[in-house]
Amino acid sequence: MKKAIYEKTILFAMKAREYSYARYSDFRVGACLEAGSGALYGGCNIENASYSVTNCAERTAFFKAISEGETTFKRIAIVGGYPNQKLEDCMPCGVCLQVMEEFCDPDQFEVIVAKSEKDYKVYLLKDLLPMAFGSKNLIGNCETFLSSITIVSSAQNQHRHAFAMFRHAAVHKAPLPRRLSTGGLAIPVYGFVQITQ
Ligand SMILES: [Zn+2]
Repeated sequence: MKKAIYEKTILFAMKAREYSYARYSDFRVGACLEAGSGALYGGCNIENASYSVTNCAERTAFFKAISEGETTFKRIAIVGGYPNQKLEDCMPCGVCLQVMEEFCDPDQFEVIVAKSEKDYKVYLLKDLLPMAFGSKNLIGNCETFLSSITIVSSAQNQHRHAFAMFRHAAVHKAPLPRRLSTGGLAIPVYGFVQITQ
């Protein structure tokens, strides 16, 4: 059953790899991310003359999917290698694993590293990034932080509503909303609450 979706995502990743912009390393990588909705998102590595700006195929796929409204993910297939050579085991880098940790359940999310649609290995995220630092480390401190906040605003009721939502997420260890909309006010949340007028 899973074999079919593994093959499908690997072939999709191979297609995405064709668009790789690997002008400097010539190491071409493709990825295919399957969202919880079932939609597939391709990604390729995109290098830059200012090397550190380079983006990996995996993160390209994640950022595409997230920017399209996806919030849950099942698996990602990765293929990589030099042109006109056999594909080699291309493990995700630490930065990409950290992005996966942000958006995926490490006990469930699968990382498929493929040499072909028939020759691949499947890992769980928890095995590739054990003991990860993640949102759980910050959410656990929300209650303490919230109790120390004094709301100073001309729209206190709206802020109270936002804080109630935030407190609920903290208590129930639910994912934090990335943005709280409170009747015209938008409060960005980056692991803590920022109060805006
Ligand atoms: Zn990476």
